[in-house]
Formats: sequence, C-alpha cells, structure tokens
Amino acid sequence: MSLLIENAMILTMEAERAVPMPGDLLIEQGRIVAVGDVSAEDRARAVEVIDATGLVAMPGLVNCHNHAAMSILRGFSEDLRLMEWLSEKMWPAEARMTEEDVYLGTLLATVEMIKSGTTAFADMYVFTNAVAQAVVDSGMRGVLTRGLIDMPEGEAVRFQEARELLARWNGAGDGRISVMVGPHGPHTCPPAFLRRAISLAEEFGAPLHIHLAETTEEVELIRREYDRTPTEYLHEVGLFDHHVVLAHSVHLTPGDIEILKKVGLRGGIAHNPISNLKLGCGIAPIGEFLRAGLTVGLGTDGPGSATTLDMFEEMKAAAWMQKVKAFDPTALQAGQVLQMATSEGAKVLALDEQVGTLTVGKQADIILVDMRAAHLCPPHDLTALLAYSASGADVHTTIVAGKVLMRDRQLTQLDEQALIAEVTARAKRITAGI
Ligand SMILES: [Zn+2]
Repeated sequence: MSLLIENAMILTMEAERAVPMPGDLLIEQGRIVAVGDVSAEDRARAVEVIDATGLVAMPGLVNCHNHAAMSILRGFSEDLRLMEWLSEKMWPAEARMTEEDVYLGTLLATVEMIKSGTTAFADMYVFTNAVAQAVVDSGMRGVLTRGLIDMPEGEAVRFQEARELLARWNGAGDGRISVMVGPHGPHTCPPAFLRRAISLAEEFGAPLHIHLAETTEEVELIRREYDRTPTEYLHEVGLFDHHVVLAHSVHLTPGDIEILKKVGLRGGIAHNPISNLKLGCGIAPIGEFLRAGLTVGLGTDGPGSATTLDMFEEMKAAAWMQKVKAFDPTALQAGQVLQMATSEGAKVLALDEQVGTLTVGKQADIILVDMRAAHLCPPHDLTALLAYSASGADVHTTIVAGKVLMRDRQLTQLDEQALIAEVTARAKRITAGI
C-alpha cells in the first residue's frame, strides 16, 4: 500500500530554519520512502494520491504531556486553585469514572488531537488498558504511563497495572504504543516508592515520565520534607540515571538546571505553557533550559485543566511567554517552537528514531496544513505563519504510520458526533452533585 502526496510545500523540520521546498512525498508500508522528488516509476505505483496544492506538509505534532481521558471533565470546574481544584472537584469526579468512561474520554481527546494535527501524545492516567485500547482504535501514536501515587490503599494494584501496561501493551498497535513508568511527582512519591518505580523501569528497560516543580507549593513542600529542591530530590533518588520526561519544570533554580546539564539528561522537559498560565503556576525558564543544552518539547497537560489539546495554541503561548518573561521579542522564536512541537518533542519521548521529522526511513506521521486562508496570507515566512498565525482548525489532513486518520477535515476512523453524545451523557453522571 503506497500513498503519494504531491504538490506540497514540504517542511521537513530537520533544521530550525528549514526552507520549505515544493515537492512530493511517497509513503510505503507506513514509512516515508521519498521526500521532494518522486520518480515517475514510483509515482505510478501509488495506490492513493493526495493533491497537496496550497498545503504545507510537515511532521505531525508531538504532545509530550497529557491526561487525555480528562476531556470528559473539561470545563467542569474552572478558575480554582490547583489543590482545591484537585481535591474538591477532580478527584471526587475521577473516583466515579469507570474503565469505559476512560476509554471514551481518551477517544474523544484523540478526535481533538487528530483534528488539530497531533499525531503522537504522551499520557499519564489510570485504567490504562482502556487508554491503550483507545490509542489502538484511534490510529494515533501513544506513549503511555500508569500514574503512580503513593496512597495508603491500592499500591500493589497500581504497580500491577503499570507492570501489565509494560508487558502487554509496549509495541502494541503495530508499534504505535510505547510504555513508560509514571511516578506522579516528587510530592506524591516518597523515596522508597520512587525507587520501586525506577526498578520497574529498569526491569523493562523503559523510560520514566514524572511531573516536576509545577507549583511553588510543591517546591515548599519538598523543601520542608527533605530540605532539597524537587530536582535535587529526584537526582538523589537516582531518577536522572534514566531517560526521563520532566513535565512542567516551572520552578527550577539555576542549580537545578546545572544538575540536569551535568547528568546529561536523557529525555527532556515537557513544557505545558497554557496549563501553567491558566493555573497561575508561573513561567518555566525555557531559555535557560535551551542554553544548558536540554531538550524541550511541548505538551498540553490534561484537558481538564488546559482546556485545549491544540498544539498550535501551545506554540504561540510558549513563544509569547518567554518573550514577556525576558522583556525581549527575540526570545524563543518561531522556528524553535515549531521544533519543540515536532523534532524536539519526539526526542523527549524517545520517539526520534521513528518520527519528528520528514526523513526517509521514518514512520509517516505527517500533517498537511491548509495555507489557503486569509489569516495565513501572504506567505512571506511559512515557519512564522505556522507558529504564530495558524491554528489546529487549519489542519487539512492527518496521517499516522502511513494511515490517513483525517482527510480534508473528515475523520476516517472515528465518529465524532456519536462520541460527543456518549461523553456528554457520561460527564453529566460523573459530575452530578460535586
Ligand atoms: Zn500533568
């Protein structure tokens, strides 16, 4: 089965200021086999052809941090403090969620992601068999973790589910699913618990995914408990000996950044600008991270807090937050945020050998963005238009592993309206009286 995309403006994202080039892309067996020039002989073999005149072809966006099933709780409680929001609203509602709710909530999120150009996402949640099944059914690429929190009851079950996820789902969906170990955060995981998570990761050779220094409250808590910063604490326990995804990392000190630089952090930071803005958490020192040579990707965080899974919005927010933080419009530029949303995000999630750039041999995770719109005219600088002026609604076609999941804004795998009706009814039940 081969797919030819012709007459596109191709942005490979192999370099920060890659010049878009006109040309074609050929996909065979789910992989990119030609970029730019496709021979007449190869063109003749294509079973399916997409005319991409007026469209930019670029790597699918990589969302480095999500709790996708929380789309079922979107907009349910807004404008609260993080701890109040969690303990009075989210946790009671989540306690009512069934495995089927998680499956449908995740599926709803994949619709939103596919429609806004995301092809891979990292997730941390519960009922992970349901999350994994939703990823398989959606056709997307998922990097999944079972969230591990140290609570009095159910620890054995949580670890058992994390183990099951690793054993059963890693490599599932024709290799579209990979699994990490997900200790929730420094303030919810004491040292022995963290070590247990690390040894599980070692046993399976899996990377780890953890929240870090999202709020000043967390920093204070760890300071009181261990007389350390959250980063120092994780370093001492040995987390940075492994490939690790550090979600948020808003309140890192120069000393913390030095630690991450010194250990030569494998993995990187999952920066969630809109979630950090909306919850009033602060602005992560992205410029300092990049100067220290750390890898930074973008994420949305869960749709319960972040309100959108549109990674184009995250690109804008990321750039603008750094500019205002530094009082400097040259801080964090269009090409850099585009890289964070594609090639760099793929590195953070240990997916860079498979996706993140349009490179021959890689998996065909590709989006076509429709530039034939008033708000994307004139085409002086496609990179800037994509980073600052485009939105998820401009995504025309979304392809994962060579399979077209949306074409000309029509989903090919999922029934959006049926999902909306189902999730709306379930959300009512879940949140009643809370
Ligand atoms: Zn999170």
